Amino acid sequence: MLRQRTLTKSVSASGIAIHTGKSVAITLQPADINTGIIFRRIDLHPPVEIPATTHYVGDTRLNTTLTHEGVHISTVEHVLSALAGYGIDNVYVDIDNAEPPVMDGSALAFTSLIEAAGITEQDAPKKFLLIKKTIRVEEDDKFAVLAPHPGAKFSFTIDFDHPAIKATQQTAEIDLMTGVFAKEISGARTFGFLSDYEYLKKNQLAQGASLENTVVLDDKGVMNEGGLRYENEFVRHKILDAIGDLFLLQHNVIGAFTGYKSGHALSHQLRLALLSDPTAYEVVTWEGEMPSSFAV
Ligand SMILES: [Zn+2]
Repeated sequence: MLRQRTLTKSVSASGIAIHTGKSVAITLQPADINTGIIFRRIDLHPPVEIPATTHYVGDTRLNTTLTHEGVHISTVEHVLSALAGYGIDNVYVDIDNAEPPVMDGSALAFTSLIEAAGITEQDAPKKFLLIKKTIRVEEDDKFAVLAPHPGAKFSFTIDFDHPAIKATQQTAEIDLMTGVFAKEISGARTFGFLSDYEYLKKNQLAQGASLENTVVLDDKGVMNEGGLRYENEFVRHKILDAIGDLFLLQHNVIGAFTGYKSGHALSHQLRLALLSDPTAYEVVTWEGEMPSSFAV
């Protein structure tokens, strides 16, 4: 039987937030069984807790934002992706501003924190969300699908008409249960176009964005010295985001996610569509040996 997981000890890091540009500290703290993932704004008095669940999702433009009684925590997807990748069920995520630090634009810093903290198995069976029916949402030519599958498969296709992205493989697929998250996904960075940058800045977004935390594309190619970390880093980052967004279902999913040009908004619609159909899923525990395991 696979047990619920938390961290062995508290771990902290700090950096700047990508949208506000402000300096922020993040601390991951162990939590009891059945706590789930809870973000806490510890800069507020009293501190405000927002559980990382679909119910609390507010804005999904450019990032996934949690909202509770007027308090916001934006860009939660990279932290959640690392926690999902390691199958962490219970943890408090304390931050002292409205957004976790972006670090290098990937989930690498958060996987390093999890590795530094260590993982403790708890005295309760781990719950999974088993997909029992195919659920599909679409918008224009974009779509996102959850389907029954004996694993935790994530497939993604992007289709950018940009020479540097077209030169890479725009489709990728992984199975989280094969323990590939840390090595194959967590290092894939956020990317953005220089042509969008001025617009975002004017709208008080991407205030903290730089070549230190974003793969930036100009008309010709990748501006970052050192180029890409993976040949297909762009589509891998989309998988990283999808893993984080899907963890807002509160459990690791047993099923297959397929995304075609989708993003945070469509991921949210997909979760809402799934949760609105009680015959489409079931919360289960895994009896006996797992066929494979998460990264530890
Ligand atoms: Zn992202």
